[in-house]
Amino acid sequence: MSKIEAYNFSGKKAIVRVDFNVPLNKQTFEVTDETRIKGALQTINKILNDGGCAILMSHLGRPDGKKQDKFSMKHVIPALEKNIGRKVIFAGDVIGAEVAKMAADLKAGEVLLLENLRFYEEEEGKPYHLGENATDEEKKAGKAKVKESQKTFVKTLASYADVYVNDAFGTAHRAHASTALIADHFDADNKMFGYLINNELNAMDKVIKAADKPFTAIMGGAKVSDKILIIENLLDRVDNLIIGGGMTYTFIKAQGGKIGNSLCEADKLDLALEILEKAKAKGVKVYIPTDAVNADKFDAEANTSVSKTNETPDGWMGLDIADDTIATFTEVIKNSKTVLWNGPMGVFEMEKFSKGTSAVAKALAEATANGAFTLIGGGDSVAAINKNKLADKVSYVSTGGGAMLEYMEGKELPGIKAIRG
Ligand code: AMP
Repeated sequence: MSKIEAYNFSGKKAIVRVDFNVPLNKQTFEVTDETRIKGALQTINKILNDGGCAILMSHLGRPDGKKQDKFSMKHVIPALEKNIGRKVIFAGDVIGAEVAKMAADLKAGEVLLLENLRFYEEEEGKPYHLGENATDEEKKAGKAKVKESQKTFVKTLASYADVYVNDAFGTAHRAHASTALIADHFDADNKMFGYLINNELNAMDKVIKAADKPFTAIMGGAKVSDKILIIENLLDRVDNLIIGGGMTYTFIKAQGGKIGNSLCEADKLDLALEILEKAKAKGVKVYIPTDAVNADKFDAEANTSVSKTNETPDGWMGLDIADDTIATFTEVIKNSKTVLWNGPMGVFEMEKFSKGTSAVAKALAEATANGAFTLIGGGDSVAAINKNKLADKVSYVSTGGGAMLEYMEGKELPGIKAIRG
């Protein structure tokens, strides 16, 4: 693979997998959050400033192999043009003679945007047209057929360009046509990651391969089952493991506590105990919330009370961490040199249960100011750090929820392997 910073795009056509899966206003179809467009700018500008041209491709939403106006990439054009400060040529399709001609005619400094890749089943390699009612046999045959036509689809995409750049970290854990398979059509010197993926990989590698100690991982969110693999992988690396959010109560119950109506995965109690035992054996200090803000129902206007997490009154559910826990967690975070945060401490979407998550966000900002490396990943913790306007006060905010989790679990991401080899 090549390194983007060392590559000269002069006179080259670059096909770039970007992540323009942006939120759109449901009535006007305007882009409501440009973060992902801004995230691709460094790569696009490098190509154009070198004297190359860029063919941008992305998916938008889940059109499941059908052309649908509401998922058209054309909605992204105004925001893209504003951000790159030049006109964008819209291909109107992904494949076909016209698109091929537009790509062939593209000149240095020009940008061509392809239509939504997922308008074609070949992008994901899934036979969506068969629907849910198809028999397993039909699905199997359908998949084989799509996989076959996928080869031509991939070849066509690759034929537009001299060089392939993958800068869509959010889909790097998918083995799709544009994220992984296309890389096979370019030799090692002409395929590379864009700046965004490089930044993501550097941040994650710094945490899982070369963390300064003490290293604290904060795992929150709803369920233990979603986080188990990442927790297991981290136990070999961290000094402190902070547990928060709904998964707290599976741990509390496993240890014999009273949890009222709090969230609990009854089939994960043994697993919770296993994690605690493993942590002990490895010398990892585990911090589980000791007090909580409880609600009498799962509602923004619910009545609230505070109790110990292992003495939750009947009929109540723990929806946030309370003051003692906040104080303990804050102290641990502030004394860390590396912090990884995934998942909120409570139901932060509701004001009454957002204090714990905000406190953790602030503690991360303080730790960063004290010289710690702090990485935030996963949709909800990113939303929480943004809500607290602290995104620029932490070291790195990852753009890829699922991709980041899988990388942290120690899995090989198809989009990364396709280029690294
Ligand atoms: P995840 O996607 O697994 O990171 O979970 C995020 C979700 O967990 C958010 O929508 C939170 O509202 C929810 N959550 C956090 N704490 C709790 C809790 N104590 N009880 C129920 N849900 C929670």
